[in-house]
Amino acid sequence: MRALQLIAPGKIELRDVDVPTIESDEVLVRVAGAGLCHSDLHMLHAPIDRPPLTLGHETAGWVDTVGGEVDGFAVGDPVLVYLVWACGECRSCLEGRDNSCEVAGGRMSLPPCPGLGPAGGMAEYIAVKARYLEPLGALDPVLAGPLADAALTSHHAIAGAMHRLGPGTTAVVIGLGGLGHTGLQILSAITEATLIGVDLDQAKLDFAAAHGATHTFLSDATTADKILDITSGYGADAVFDFTGIQPTVDLAISCIAPDGCLRFVGLGGGTFQYGALPWATLPWGVDLRKSYAGNRADQRAVIELAAAGKIMLETKQYDLEDGLSAFDDLAAGKLLGRAILVPTI
Ligand SMILES: [Zn+2]
Ligand SMILES: [Zn+2]
Repeated sequence: MRALQLIAPGKIELRDVDVPTIESDEVLVRVAGAGLCHSDLHMLHAPIDRPPLTLGHETAGWVDTVGGEVDGFAVGDPVLVYLVWACGECRSCLEGRDNSCEVAGGRMSLPPCPGLGPAGGMAEYIAVKARYLEPLGALDPVLAGPLADAALTSHHAIAGAMHRLGPGTTAVVIGLGGLGHTGLQILSAITEATLIGVDLDQAKLDFAAAHGATHTFLSDATTADKILDITSGYGADAVFDFTGIQPTVDLAISCIAPDGCLRFVGLGGGTFQYGALPWATLPWGVDLRKSYAGNRADQRAVIELAAAGKIMLETKQYDLEDGLSAFDDLAAGKLLGRAILVPTI
């Protein structure tokens, strides 16, 4: 089968590889579509030598073959691949914190994720333990892949901030790309907050305005002041930074309100200095989370939101054969929403 593989730092290639064999508790999924994420760009440019790795952690498809011990899935079922391959049995997993699994992950490491360790979905087939599959019902698996990360991860960041997102509150979404344009719609669907969208691209702001943002701003040195003006100087009750570059981190810490939920999701390398002083850096009470992926409840919630038509992921399809140009377009900031690589026969 064809698979888009990372073969050396900075180098990806479409290669012919064997169709995976499955264990008795696994399912062979015929890939319908695999989303392309900024994390794939981070992987591409990481200076790490490793064996060839099939990329892709946003995968949906159809059940092709089921292992002998697998119940509940039949050939042809449309399925989504949950990307947190946690143990399911440790204290964290049992508390619904699969993304912080103590056994498959650890204090400074994460549970395995297809496409970032095990072979991912930018291929014609992927082998997955049946317990990591979610039924998609009537959703089209060609388009559903981004529910596994863009929607899951933004939902998790929002779910942990719901106590600050009641009536009269304000939330800021910084970066309206794959995650942010989804997160904005989730906020619109499940909270009563006034929504502010921030990006460098007017087309992304226009999309946000059409999907729930009350205010949109092109990001520049005046953005924090504009957000403070809207909130009478108090700041936003929740700020979601889906980019994480230095200007967005600076913006996030400059407009968060006292007791606000500050959620850093994007891995753009920005930093800030925290001072344990009464007047420094952050207002009192700010609750900060470095948010990673999501749990199983987040996964099911976003599938339900998509099935109900409450979130609509903006996507652009590329043939898997043309996957390299999708990487180029993402790197160049040319994509509105998410690129999906589709293996066509
Ligand atoms: Zn991702
Ligand atoms: Zn666990």
